[in-house]
Amino acid sequence: MPPSDELLAIATATKGFMPDDEAAALSEAAQTCGPGLWLEIGTYCGKSTVHLGAAAQAVGADLVTVDHHHGSEENQPGWQWHDASLVDPETGLIDTLPSLRRTLWLAHLEETVTPVVGSTAQVGRWWASPINFLFLDGNHTEEIAQHDYETFARHVVPGGTLAVHDVFPDPADGGAPPWHVVQRAVNSGAFEQISVTGSLRILWRTSGVAFG
Ligand code: SAH
Ligand code: MG
Repeated sequence: MPPSDELLAIATATKGFMPDDEAAALSEAAQTCGPGLWLEIGTYCGKSTVHLGAAAQAVGADLVTVDHHHGSEENQPGWQWHDASLVDPETGLIDTLPSLRRTLWLAHLEETVTPVVGSTAQVGRWWASPINFLFLDGNHTEEIAQHDYETFARHVVPGGTLAVHDVFPDPADGGAPPWHVVQRAVNSGAFEQISVTGSLRILWRTSGVAFG
């Protein structure tokens, strides 16, 4: 079921990094994988969260979204994707949590989406729940992108879905770590690629192959 016009308008008005065609593919893939627990890594102000949250609400899934809300390297002052209006004047740090809370409230998604505020290293130390749908869109350094894959993709159930954003096989188009993650997932045999939409890759967790 496509999201309502009202939800699409809220997603469009939310700051973030998710083109409409990729958002539609993400939402469709999530709905196809069915209910259960869905996990998003990298919330920012909640743009992709609204798309995924609307899909979760439609099928009765729970969506957890993880971010420390202080932005990635490229969001810091002096970098390409810095937005000065997101800086907390008290701390001088980026803080996207207030925007996220406003977005979820406007979208009536507070009962469907559980925000977790912390780094993926922190959350990874205690995460133990099986995941039906995993969306990796957090830090794009090699170390953390690999960490996030290793830490959370091992919990994706057989038949579950892994979505990876900002995958650029040609280094001229963007950073390589998400592409390395997709290659690792496919080469391990634990995941098979299902579709490509822009920089979004959708993979499926095979059964019978140990996570690697
Ligand atoms: N999905 C969002 C975009 C996410 S941008 C959208 O659709 O617009 C990437 C996010 O990852 C940033 O908000 C940043 O704060 C977060 N991030 C970066 N490193 C992180 C880490 N180590 N742990 C948790 N979140 C992190
Ligand atoms: Mg992204």
